[in-house]
Amino acid sequence: MRQASVVIVGAGVLGASVAYHLAARGWRDVLMVDRSDGPGRGSTGVATGGFRAQYGTAINVRLSLLAREKFRRFRDEIGVDPGYLPAGYLWLAVTRAELDILRAALEVQHAEGLHEATEVSVEDIGLLSPAVLRDDVVGGTFCPTDGFIAPLQVLNGYLAAALRAGARVEWRTAVTGLIRDEGGSIVAVETSSGHISTEAVVNAAGAWAAELAEQAGVPLPIAPLRRQIAATVPCSLVPPTTPMTIFAGDGFHFRARDGRVLLLWPTPGVSGKPFDISVDREWIDTVTAMAHRRVPILHTVAIDLACCRAGLYEMSPDRHALLGQAPGCDNLFLINGSSGHGVMHAPALGQLLTEIMSDGAASSLEVSALRPSRFAEGRPNQVSGLL
Ligand SMILES: Cc1cc2nc3c(=O)[nH]c(=O)nc-3n(C[C@H](O)[C@H](O)[C@H](O)COP(=O)(O)OP(=O)(O)OC[C@H]3O[C@@H](n4cnc5c(N)ncnc54)[C@H](O)[C@@H]3O)c2cc1C
Repeated sequence: MRQASVVIVGAGVLGASVAYHLAARGWRDVLMVDRSDGPGRGSTGVATGGFRAQYGTAINVRLSLLAREKFRRFRDEIGVDPGYLPAGYLWLAVTRAELDILRAALEVQHAEGLHEATEVSVEDIGLLSPAVLRDDVVGGTFCPTDGFIAPLQVLNGYLAAALRAGARVEWRTAVTGLIRDEGGSIVAVETSSGHISTEAVVNAAGAWAAELAEQAGVPLPIAPLRRQIAATVPCSLVPPTTPMTIFAGDGFHFRARDGRVLLLWPTPGVSGKPFDISVDREWIDTVTAMAHRRVPILHTVAIDLACCRAGLYEMSPDRHALLGQAPGCDNLFLINGSSGHGVMHAPALGQLLTEIMSDGAASSLEVSALRPSRFAEGRPNQVSGLL
């Protein structure tokens, strides 16, 4: 039987970040296993690449601030450019109620030291993101240190750094069982290529995390949610330094990336097929119509159907990550449920889980708001709107 001190199931951006941080901390025999045939086949490879610290809860602001510091040092520490581009995130309100939600979030952000996040007027919005029609916009907020990151550069950077530090990765290896002893601890991982005996398992299985936890008999409230992206044909209508521009009410947003404009608008997913990642033609038509109404210059540019894509968010009930020991299984560690923020928070979450696994508690941040037991306790985080 193969052996590892820890098996990390999932070599997406979160699994790779944990592997790097554990190996750099001196853990030996760190093994990542992933059933796909190479990096970026899960959600990480589809992510839009947004980075923001403009959240409505203190813990998410803190995670972003820790991650932002690590992105700024990423090239020195990891040896790869993470693509951090502080082009800003511009939130737009079209009703007073939406503006109130943005203002309440600003108070949280300022209390956490994110003073550069500010309220902006309709005139400011015209200067920051000139392509957007401001007819019905009543105000917004902007943070200039928010912006963009390059998901695959972050993932590949962490993978390479983890391997350099002594970790290993096995692709095309599906985990099919988590075997527990009489005391309840996991002692072995059953995979498509044989058993691996281990002292600990990290669940980094993204949108599939609940299925994996179920193999150990651990219920995990993580559900997949399809997110679709429409892409225009190459054009230079929106400069790449334009902020991510997002409507707080319905979540419609756009950004320029790789010489195209990406259009997003959240919808509920495919009824009865939660893991379906087909792109819905009707959705493309609707989001295109929304874009034409709100960003009129896009009328002149076609959608490139071949470049439209979809992937899965890994939703938790309160849209916050679950980090730490799984309730009822002391050597199963969770880094799940980032709910669409997993790339931007990967540097912070990987470091924090390493502290939990090495020292018994996180020291870089107080992370009790992310304890996995909060749902069973009936004390989830409170979120408002998209923030
Ligand atoms: C359209 C879209 C846009 C997004 N935009 C952003 C954004 O702008 N910013 C941001 O921060 N986040 C964004 N996200 C969210 C982000 O992609 C995720 O939060 C993040 O990638 C999660 O990382 P992960 O490593 O947990 O998951 P993944 O990258 O999905 O990796 C999980 C891995 O687990 C493997 N796996 C699962 N089960 C098993 C098993 N039983 N055995 C072996 N391997 C297994 C899978 O093969 C997969 O490779 C977006 C997501 C989508 C879909």
